[in-house]
Amino acid sequence: MTNTTKGPRIFCVANQKGGVGKTTTTVNLAAGLAQVGQRVLVVDLDPQGNATTGSGIDKRKLDSSVYDVLLGSATIAEARRISPKGGYLVLGANRELAGAEVELVGFERREKRLKDALHTVRDEHDFVLIDCPPSLSLLTLNGLCAAHGVVVPMQCEYFALEGLSDLVNTIKQVHANLNPDLQIIGLLRVMFDPRITLQQQVSEQLKAHFGAKVFDTVIPRNVRLAEAPSYGQPGVTFDPSSKGAVAFVEFAKEVVRRLG
Ligand code: ADP
Ligand code: MG
Repeated sequence: MTNTTKGPRIFCVANQKGGVGKTTTTVNLAAGLAQVGQRVLVVDLDPQGNATTGSGIDKRKLDSSVYDVLLGSATIAEARRISPKGGYLVLGANRELAGAEVELVGFERREKRLKDALHTVRDEHDFVLIDCPPSLSLLTLNGLCAAHGVVVPMQCEYFALEGLSDLVNTIKQVHANLNPDLQIIGLLRVMFDPRITLQQQVSEQLKAHFGAKVFDTVIPRNVRLAEAPSYGQPGVTFDPSSKGAVAFVEFAKEVVRRLG
């Protein structure tokens, strides 16, 4: 599919909690989309650089990264790299990115630096997936200002709905003040174990509350997805027949069907 007229679909993968599956969702959705023929750019906005490493790129050896793009010393076209196994491009991150927060303070349009940079490559990707850090920082704000919407990975646990209200409020505020395009694209149930009754109950609550905003695809808990990053690739390519990989390819197809 070429997509030169409307530009890419730009999604933040966000949730204010850490360890909920944001990075796993970003790299595996990217690999799944690449498999079905989409041109994908992953933007790693987390100074931990897990999406970079998990895509098979050595974050210590980046000549330029998302940090340079935000500060204006490199373009995305210069700084993006190919994920060797994933089949998508990556604008990488490392610890250096933590400093951007402070360094951007004096800049004009400081929350729109990523949006402006993405505009320069708008005809080159069908999807841009932004892996956000687990906080509402200036970095996350750059992601939310650049995006059309937010994909929220969540575990079906007792406090899941409560945690979600913070994120929903943040999205409402950004929508009202900075980015009128921004909406919740959908909630993705991840690390799901159907044997656990509580998870089934929370899953039903989610559907009752958010209706069609809950993606049909459910990502199971699957150890192959957790093992893949240490092999420098997404689970989707590391073990294509594993349950987790199959689910993420299915999810990629659902995303294209709903939003492509
Ligand atoms: P976040 O980016 O939100 O901090 P991660 O994607 O890094 O979360 O996931 C946290 C941990 O859970 C990682 O060790 C990851 O490998 C593991 N994990 C994520 N999704 C799954 C899954 N579906 N099944 C098993 N382990 C998972
Ligand atoms: Mg992460």
